[in-house]
Amino acid sequence: MPTVDSLGDLQLQTALQLLKQAGREVVIDAAPGSTPWLQAVVDALCELSSRDALTGLANRRQFELIIAREIDRVARAGEPALVLMADIDHFKVVNDTHGHPAGDQVLKAVAAALQDCVRPMDTVARYGGEEFAIILPNCPPAFGQTVCERIRAKVERRVVNVAPGTDVQVTISIGGAYAPQWVRSSATLWVERADRQLYRAKTEGRNRACLEQAAVYQVSAEEKGMLFGTSQFQDIE
Ligand code: GH3
Ligand code: MG
Ligand code: MG
Repeated sequence: MPTVDSLGDLQLQTALQLLKQAGREVVIDAAPGSTPWLQAVVDALCELSSRDALTGLANRRQFELIIAREIDRVARAGEPALVLMADIDHFKVVNDTHGHPAGDQVLKAVAAALQDCVRPMDTVARYGGEEFAIILPNCPPAFGQTVCERIRAKVERRVVNVAPGTDVQVTISIGGAYAPQWVRSSATLWVERADRQLYRAKTEGRNRACLEQAAVYQVSAEEKGMLFGTSQFQDIE
């Protein structure tokens, strides 16, 4: 059983308060202070620290973790993976016209719309203020186009009632890029490429999606074996 000194006890109390405030109180059938109970507290804290407080989406920290994992997978398995960067159009006007709390309501509604458009295996994250990032593992090019259009149309249709008799509708611009298959990219480079497409979507008129042309890598099973399956390259640092 872990011993808890007075400082640790104070931090534990703060952690429990934080969890309570966030509506994630630890309810498990184990005695407070026991190992299973402490494990449940740690799990709940991990979950809390990976979420954005306003929208409930994955936060930037969690996004960085998941994109790093995805880069590993693409380099190892060669699956096509897509990253999308999405930014609400003219969002400043929403805040200026209806106030910041109304803007927050719109952000929550857009976040829910994005989450509705993707598969359970995909990750939707709040990347910054009114900017979102979506990681789609194992995403063939045709599916990428479809999901972008689904997101664009869903956000455009969403009506957010921000006050009695006041409805707000927004649009979103999306940029996307595929990770180069069989090659280890970096999160920064991958996101930059998607960001360039987002910039293009903005300059071409907003409320649209621009995807970087997916590079087609024709790698035979034999070549894959040469690269990853044999010991041929294992001595190379
Ligand atoms: P564009 O179409 O070029 O993207 O224009 P925009 O007005 O959306 O872009 P800009 O970057 O000028 O404005 C983003 C605004 O988002 C400004 C900022 O106050 C607002 N914002 C960022 N985070 C939040 C938030 O958490 N809540 C609210 N209500 N507003 C936020
Ligand atoms: Mg922005
Ligand atoms: Mg914007």
